[in-house]
Amino acid sequence: MAGLTVREKERLTPIAGTYDVIVAGGGIAGVAAALSASRHGRKTLLIERMYGLGGLACLGLITIYLPLCDGMGRQVCKGLNDEFLRLSISRGWEDKYPDTWMDGKKDHGSQRFEVGYNANVFSILLEQTLCNAGCHLLYGTAVVDVLKQGNLVSGDRIQDYKRVSIEKTLNYIDDHYLEHLTLAGISRNVNMSPSYLEQLFKTLNGFTMWDYILTKRVSDAEKYLVSTDLRVLDISMKCGFASLTYFNRVFKRITGFTPKDYRTKIRM
Ligand SMILES: Cc1cc2nc3c(=O)[nH]c(=O)nc-3n(C[C@H](O)[C@H](O)[C@H](O)COP(=O)(O)OP(=O)(O)OC[C@H]3O[C@@H](n4cnc5c(N)ncnc54)[C@H](O)[C@@H]3O)c2cc1C
Repeated sequence: MAGLTVREKERLTPIAGTYDVIVAGGGIAGVAAALSASRHGRKTLLIERMYGLGGLACLGLITIYLPLCDGMGRQVCKGLNDEFLRLSISRGWEDKYPDTWMDGKKDHGSQRFEVGYNANVFSILLEQTLCNAGCHLLYGTAVVDVLKQGNLVSGDRIQDYKRVSIEKTLNYIDDHYLEHLTLAGISRNVNMSPSYLEQLFKTLNGFTMWDYILTKRVSDAEKYLVSTDLRVLDISMKCGFASLTYFNRVFKRITGFTPKDYRTKIRM
């Protein structure tokens, strides 16, 4: 196993955008805050670490809204709360909502307003409502820190889950590239499906995971060829190649030379 490493490169983090209001978390509370800010003309960004809105109420499948009233027919929650509740059942769901609450009557008798709704539909409706109000959304991203100027929050530091997973994968490969690696093993390490990880790695890096692994192995092999008299077969085995033929082929593809020619050329 190669030495364990932690990759913590110094880097400049660009400010990705400027907003009047940034809301962290797209649960019901966050959606309400973002919607209110957007409707008041503020340039607003809502950052949600999952890939949908609604928090516990949608992603957590707590799909019951109660109570909007006090159980005696008196409405106690209004404004956005009322709007969201009605939105949640606007495409129809369980037949629980009493007519007296739905037909706009002021007198609800003693009927309690309690509804159930479809979590996925409600989540999409919340997204539509925010987009219609001009709010920007950033999914799969967590707010990890705030930047402050005095007592004022001037920005959020965010973490992109996809990028973190790929960084983890790079670190994992750096530590294990000389061992027998499989796509299933690598993807288990970051809890992603193998095909998704493979595709994401290529998209974010511009090269495949296998290109990265083979380039690291060949780079080690180059060092052995230059600085030792080890046989090419021994070098290929040391560098994680299962067969000499495969090693020769990969080495030539990456460097343009066979291992033997490479050694001769370097030592001339
Ligand atoms: C077991 C249980 C039963 C309940 N039953 C009912 C009920 O019957 N009726 C009812 O009306 N209410 C019920 N509730 C309460 C209701 O679910 C919550 O009050 C409501 O969902 C809270 O909304 P929220 O937006 O404050 O938080 P959440 O719904 O928790 O939303 C928070 C959101 O923020 C995101 N987030 C967290 N940290 C970050 C970060 N750093 N960066 C970016 N995003 C982040 C999360 O992914 C999540 O989407 C129940 C709650 C529980 C736990």
